[in-house]
Amino acid sequence: MADIYINYGIDLQEMTFELMDAAKVADKLDPTMKVGIKPNLVVSRSADDGATTHPEIVEGIIKYLQAFGIHDITILEGSWIGDNTKRAFKNCGYTDLAEKYGVKLLDTKEDKVVKIKNKNVLLNVCESALNVDYLINVPVLKGHCQTGMTCCLKNLKGCIPDSEKRRFHTMGLDNPIAVLGTVLRPSLNIIDSVCGDLSFEEGGNPVTANRIILGFDPVLLDSYGAQLMGFGPDDIGYLRIAKNYGAGKYADIDTDILELNSENRPKTITQHSSAVKRLSGYIEADSACSACYAALIYALDKTGGIKDEKIKIGQGYKGKTLSGPGVGNCTAGCGSYVKGCPPKASDIVDMIKNWR
Ligand code: SF4
Repeated sequence: MADIYINYGIDLQEMTFELMDAAKVADKLDPTMKVGIKPNLVVSRSADDGATTHPEIVEGIIKYLQAFGIHDITILEGSWIGDNTKRAFKNCGYTDLAEKYGVKLLDTKEDKVVKIKNKNVLLNVCESALNVDYLINVPVLKGHCQTGMTCCLKNLKGCIPDSEKRRFHTMGLDNPIAVLGTVLRPSLNIIDSVCGDLSFEEGGNPVTANRIILGFDPVLLDSYGAQLMGFGPDDIGYLRIAKNYGAGKYADIDTDILELNSENRPKTITQHSSAVKRLSGYIEADSACSACYAALIYALDKTGGIKDEKIKIGQGYKGKTLSGPGVGNCTAGCGSYVKGCPPKASDIVDMIKNWR
């Protein structure tokens, strides 16, 4: 068993099914189980904008569960305070999905609340998230204007009522998110890293990576996701606290990562948002894989570019002798390059800072 499974491509439904198969998820399932699926539908916006979970991923999960005889499936979510969950279900494609596969939709804003105390914090948690036998967390890996990033742990905030979401902000967000991560323990996490937003939870600047990531430890996955976005895990306050509370461990050199279809990583597709276009000005790309390019975009967002030097990236540079900085093993012919295939954004951040 690996710790983290990654799949690359554009057929999200098929990729999700392959990941669950590779991780042998069925070994832990029983047809009598009540399963909850928690996507990120923070706003009523298409997944292509970088804020919400692609419905094709949830469709892959449902198909996998139903193939193993599981039929009591509920998609549960509560959008952020400024939006209406039912509108999000409809606009994001989940109402159609529920009808097609006969699964239930539950707006956690209307759910009963259970009080749970841990780490000296009393939390109000939606009952349905606690009552399922198997909870599948399906967050989006994306930027967040207050916490830096959001992924597995922060996605669980959709399982508390609106009044509690407001109270989390008065409590400083990081600690209550970490405590929530100790009381609500997803059985499985499948991360939508297809085109998560550069820096805001509500989308608008999607960064194409064409990737889905699966694992069981939300802290491990979030710490890995933080590095993919150019952070050190300790840069993310709630992650640091969650680890100290024993909610999981950080990814490190001993973390076993299994990549599927790495030879078929899609190439960069045209970036459409103005923020991503601006950062692309610091790059000289030639047939770059989208996951590699996304890492560089996230790193440039944190550092700015290198003055008078464009950073080379892409398979077109393979085997060539080059000058200037490069990113990824394909640019090994550069004077200096960041190793990895794809490399982590956190390593690219270090290279750019040291270049100056
Ligand atoms: S190093 Fe080359 S092959 Fe590897 S992800 Fe980057 S562009 Fe693709």
